[in-house]
Amino acid sequence: MNHRPPRPTPAVDALPLTRPFVAPEELARLAGHTSLLRLGANESAFGPPPRALEAMRDALPRISWYGDPESTDLREALAARHRCTPENVVVGAGIDDLLGMAVGAYMSPGDVAVATLGTYPTFAYHVAARAGRMETIAYEYDGSVALASLFARAASARARIVYLANPDNPSGSFIGRATLERALAAVPSDVLFVLDEAYGDFAASTQLLPDEIDPRIVRMRTFSKAYGLAGARIGYALADRTVTATFNKIRIQYNVNRNAQIGALAALEEEPFVAAVVAEVADGREEYAALGHRLGLPTLPSLANFVNFDLGTRERAEAVLAALMRAGVFVRKPGAPPIDRCIRVTVGTGEERAAFATRLAEALDDVGAKSPGS
Ligand SMILES: *Cc1c(COP(=O)(O)O)cnc(C)c1O
Repeated sequence: MNHRPPRPTPAVDALPLTRPFVAPEELARLAGHTSLLRLGANESAFGPPPRALEAMRDALPRISWYGDPESTDLREALAARHRCTPENVVVGAGIDDLLGMAVGAYMSPGDVAVATLGTYPTFAYHVAARAGRMETIAYEYDGSVALASLFARAASARARIVYLANPDNPSGSFIGRATLERALAAVPSDVLFVLDEAYGDFAASTQLLPDEIDPRIVRMRTFSKAYGLAGARIGYALADRTVTATFNKIRIQYNVNRNAQIGALAALEEEPFVAAVVAEVADGREEYAALGHRLGLPTLPSLANFVNFDLGTRERAEAVLAALMRAGVFVRKPGAPPIDRCIRVTVGTGEERAAFATRLAEALDDVGAKSPGS
């Protein structure tokens, strides 16, 4: 018998096998370390809120049951939090899952999506799998997003979706409410604006768009960052009810882990814990900026739970990344110019930040890269 496996769709067949997120566990194995100082994936160094942990622990014996496919309790709590109705909320297995719903529901093969070159990669990943075309604009030198150019490109390319992470990953840059509201006037009316607010919890609510539902916008939020539940895989989208109804047509019914629903619901009642995390992260960002200043490395402005250290060139940034890995430190770096000259470092606990400061100084000595351009 000489059978061959069937072929996937042409779009999938043509895709290279890429893995934007090589796990730190695998990197550790490759570098011969048993553990790493883990500052590369923007996970919370401060863990989940205690009551979320307790609720999940109590619920664990019932893991034999499916979760509520409608996430009704959680959607009601989220609707109260964001002053909308539960019909405006869709829960998913993280923003990564919700991005797939947006692309799956709004893009046909050949359709165009627009984003910043080198931004959070999962969106483009979904677009490629559906034979969509990505058009991109570059970051500014300081990592900010040229919003007017982004929306102008969406209009000229007749895009179906325009994607913005705000605060952005990997740059950390942020566009405040007034600027965003002004720019929104230029979003063509038939474009879906996917606003990825994975780091929205690190901004003051007055800096974000107000809670009103705008029919052009899908806002995506997650429990993975400030709420410390990345491994639970849970996030949500806020949108007009026709958009949420569309997502619900293609959503996998049991996409969300039962324990994640329970943990997320309990986490919403831990505002003081999350506020303390946000405050500590803000202190940590300042500490990193001061560290960069001491070592002759500028840092990019950030409103997220990470900071980019500017090594001046891509080569030097790659050399420092490798030296840090040899020293057991896991960080990542932006992949696309002009910010590929940076390394991106998650804000750790005070102890982790102190350890990082020592290792970064040593790594710079190691590669002879004390200051950019030297
Ligand atoms: C971390 C991150 C995500 C992933 O969120 P999940 O809810 O864990 O899938 C999405 N977008 C951005 C910009 C991120 O940095």
